[in-house]
Amino acid sequence: MAMNYPQYIWHNGSVRPWQDAQVHVMSHALHYGSSVFEGIRVYETDKGPAGFRLTDHIQRMFDSARIYYMPMPYAEDELIRACHEIVTVNGLQSAYLRPIAFRGIGGLGVAASPDMPTEVSIAAIEWGAYLGEEAREKGVDVCVSSWNRIAPNTIPSSAKAGGNYLSSQLISMEAKRRGFAEGIGLSIDGTLSEGAGENLFIVKDGKLYTPPQAASILAGITRDSVIKIARSLDYEIIEMEMPREILYLADEAFLTGTAAEITPIRSVDEIEVRSAGRGPVTRHIQEAFFGLFDGSSKDRWGWLEPIDNKPAKAKGRTHAVAV
Ligand code: PMP
Repeated sequence: MAMNYPQYIWHNGSVRPWQDAQVHVMSHALHYGSSVFEGIRVYETDKGPAGFRLTDHIQRMFDSARIYYMPMPYAEDELIRACHEIVTVNGLQSAYLRPIAFRGIGGLGVAASPDMPTEVSIAAIEWGAYLGEEAREKGVDVCVSSWNRIAPNTIPSSAKAGGNYLSSQLISMEAKRRGFAEGIGLSIDGTLSEGAGENLFIVKDGKLYTPPQAASILAGITRDSVIKIARSLDYEIIEMEMPREILYLADEAFLTGTAAEITPIRSVDEIEVRSAGRGPVTRHIQEAFFGLFDGSSKDRWGWLEPIDNKPAKAKGRTHAVAV
């Protein structure tokens, strides 16, 4: 997807011109996948730009760093403030934020040394619907990948780390080569897991089903939002391990993620989902979700964090690992 690069990027503690955020080619992360990152949307609202669950995303980034013993040189509230700042200095009304923390230069050993620096950058870019505008209504055609997802005792799927995305790349590129919009990975024991960059929901007989955390998923913040929204609309949500064929028998199915938002699935492995595009339950949840941004649904959870450059609402936590 072509990107319009903004003027500024936040890099290692300050706002810099976009082209000045440079990294050495011998950085540990480039060789060994040792980065942790987030994708966060800033929506344009009638009260100005607002980060969607910005604090929750930054907290997940610190959790990812914690799993990998990665020292974070900034506190959570400093990075939240930096997110506000980079949206503001670029004059953006809506944006996709990409904070990333990664191991820098400090030797070729796979085991990171304690003195290896952690570098941190935050980009804010303009970005539309990840799977296309049309997809929100018509849905996308997906396939089950021949690649399994990472297993719980190999690479932790709860950490949103750069290295995990080698698995996602294989799943997504295979799907695209075969003419599908996205691929769904199965867990190591063959149950449904998630898309290459999205969580998965199935609607059957008016109830919602989604794979549990044990099925090698990333516990998506959009997934959590959908669960809470659906419960508030009195839908029953069941988190359980499911065999692949449940997808072929679904009344409706959809993908969730910061980039994908809520995207209906039109077909799986060339079998049309019964709703053949967006079904009524998906639509109901989509309306409640997108309504948060145009003000037609109430933000009862406090998920919208207005971009204002004021001190962030830090929740008392600071460094994942002491530096
Ligand atoms: N699973 C994977 C593998 C992802 O990359 C993403 C995108 N971050 C998701 C699920 C959805 O997570 P979220 O809703 O927090 O963006």
